[in-house]
Amino acid sequence: MIDAKTNQATEYFAKIIFVNAACLNSNLILLNSTSNRFPNGLGNEHDILGRYIAFQNYRGSLNATLDGFEDGYYYGRRPVSPLMPSFRNVYKQETDFLRGYLVFWGAYRNTGNGNNTDGIGADFKDALSEAGEWGVYMSMQGEVIPKHTNHVRLSKDEKDDWGIPQLITSVSYDDNDEKMLKDFLSQGAEILDVAGCKNIVQNDSKQAPGLDIHEMGGIRMGKDPKTSMLNKWNQLHACKNVFVTDGACMTSVGNQNPSLTFMAITARAANYAVEQLKTRNL
Ligand SMILES: Cc1cc2nc3c(=O)[nH]c(=O)nc-3n(C[C@H](O)[C@H](O)[C@H](O)COP(=O)(O)OP(=O)(O)OC[C@H]3O[C@@H](n4cnc5c(N)ncnc54)[C@H](O)[C@@H]3O)c2cc1C
Repeated sequence: MIDAKTNQATEYFAKIIFVNAACLNSNLILLNSTSNRFPNGLGNEHDILGRYIAFQNYRGSLNATLDGFEDGYYYGRRPVSPLMPSFRNVYKQETDFLRGYLVFWGAYRNTGNGNNTDGIGADFKDALSEAGEWGVYMSMQGEVIPKHTNHVRLSKDEKDDWGIPQLITSVSYDDNDEKMLKDFLSQGAEILDVAGCKNIVQNDSKQAPGLDIHEMGGIRMGKDPKTSMLNKWNQLHACKNVFVTDGACMTSVGNQNPSLTFMAITARAANYAVEQLKTRNL
């Protein structure tokens, strides 16, 4: 450990170690933990560490307007902002892309002059607080499939303030992601149209994967030590006293919010670790 303020280094020793620095930083810590036995990162015997990085795709969104309901305003949870579970490829493969996407919904009142209110001072405030027509939005959370080529690695020359090599993220979208995005935008427009919305606008932010959240992978679980880093209890295959239980352990990302799964996996692994300590297996 290096104290961020004093730069003083301290070594800690423990029978078991849980590496939980969040997905990419856990990858960084293991990649930086080299030794004669593991020159390419702790437990990395088969060039798996840092590979199969995946994330969720938020590029697509839609906006529209809805006539009526002018006597209502939005407060707190009214109207609610629901999440719509994926309805694509649920029971069988039915599209030209794999997997699916969850949809976030919401409704809001535009300001009197639309959201591009001009003016200054009291007039501006009045215009802002005058409720205009209802707006509706939808946005996607698409499942990106982990690939060997989507990876993180250490920079050879860039270091942080403490001399530790920085992480390079080499991840991109592929054809499956593009087809899924297209499907969301056309399905979303159809749903909004059937619901009676107008002025439907489809948006592709084209933002890079690194600008999204819900990164996973790189220290994946699996039965085979040649194709995975962790066993079913989240222990490194090669070092049983090291556990990784954050998003780095995931082998697929789904389209749901993932953090409760990380917490459940962590509780399960911690329980197992305590049992193993008690029986002196660790
Ligand atoms: C804007 C936003 C919205 C989100 N919304 C949702 C949501 O609605 N639902 C959902 O399920 N998930 C959501 N997430 C994802 C969720 O926040 C993460 O999945 C979750 O926080 C991961 O928990 P963690 O413990 O693995 O990592 P973190 O909570 O990031 O904790 C990791 C800790 O490790 C520390 N650390 C890192 N590197 C080092 C190091 N080298 N040395 C010492 N300490 C280190 C960090 O400072 C941090 O305190 C969201 C994320 C963002 C950014």
